[in-house]
Amino acid sequence: MTRICVFPGDGIGPEVVREALSVLRTVEEVSGTRRFETEEELLGGASYDAHGVPMTERALSLARSSDAILLGAVGGPKWDQLPFEVRPERGLLELRKTFGLFANLRPAKVYGPLVDASPLRRELVEGIDLLVVRELTGGIYFGEPRGVRMIDGVETGCNTEVYARPEIERVARVAFELGRKRTGRVTSVDKANVLETSVLWRKVVTEVGEREFPDVALSHMLVDNCAMQLVRSPRQFDVIVTTNLFGDILTDEASMVTGSIGMLPSASLGGKVGLYEPIHGSAPDIAGKGLANPLAMILSVAMMLNYSFDMTEEAALIENAVGKALADGYRTGDIYREGPGIRRVGTSEIGDKVRRILLDTT
Ligand code: NAD
Repeated sequence: MTRICVFPGDGIGPEVVREALSVLRTVEEVSGTRRFETEEELLGGASYDAHGVPMTERALSLARSSDAILLGAVGGPKWDQLPFEVRPERGLLELRKTFGLFANLRPAKVYGPLVDASPLRRELVEGIDLLVVRELTGGIYFGEPRGVRMIDGVETGCNTEVYARPEIERVARVAFELGRKRTGRVTSVDKANVLETSVLWRKVVTEVGEREFPDVALSHMLVDNCAMQLVRSPRQFDVIVTTNLFGDILTDEASMVTGSIGMLPSASLGGKVGLYEPIHGSAPDIAGKGLANPLAMILSVAMMLNYSFDMTEEAALIENAVGKALADGYRTGDIYREGPGIRRVGTSEIGDKVRRILLDTT
């Protein structure tokens, strides 16, 4: 029996996780190859409300004893005034750090039927299929010193960007390996004209490429240019590898280019246990209304099957079912554009549709 630790989290987290778990059950039913045992725990704001901390020891040990982790989203305005050490996001950062999840894979692929949901022109968007590999356990999100203190009578905030060579080498290897399996191109994104950490980043990525992946074409791009190129000509990219902060920002941008933040899954890898979550947050503005798009969470389950369990066929079944649901005109509000045969539906309706397609096609 394969054990999955499930953290529904806050806001729309529980709503999208519900749909994703039903899809997992359907895959279990139709493929019959593997049984999944799922167990849920609180994380983030929900955990803070119940236990006074964003992640309990019990939650951590459940994750430790599992084969993979599924996470909805954490956070929300209710907890915004809390001290940083108990903020919902702390639970997630701790989880990533504890499990050594240093490589965050964020594919941004445009589904044919959604081309017109992009704010960009059809001819720019058609065929986008890129993968951002974001470093996840280093950089400015973790660097010390950090904090807000009085310096010479002036209130001063400080965060520190730090990268050591091994942290860059290991994430570069993940990107090159993925690049090799795709179209053989990797773009490393940094800010080497201003930041010393970026100078080191560029040097180390270049060395890893020359030494271990001479067959993969490596190019470098400054992050400001990359932000611009992602809207000017997004199809030029295949694999992008970048730091924690730059990756966080660029993937939100890439998600809008492909239609909606509600469509993008992610996998965080590096340790024994992989963590799979959509890239969106808890969307407090639509939480509890049945409006959230569950497809990013459902596609995160597909990534879990692919990367943690080598179930590539089952992962492809889910991806195809999502594509078919979209082709059949099903749209949540975030991807809705009026048109012939297009139906505006809620979270559970689109989840049901994906499940029915899975049952029909197998
Ligand atoms: P967000 O991603 O939650 O929402 C941004 C916008 O996108 C909102 O208008 C929201 O309604 C919409 N949206 C997001 N996901 C959607 C979905 N599945 N379907 C339809 N619409 C969707 O970002 P935010 O508003 O900046 O952050 C809200 C909270 O989430 C904050 O507390 C933030 O810290 C947290 N957050 C958590 C994670 C995580 O858990 N990994 C990631 C990002 C933000």
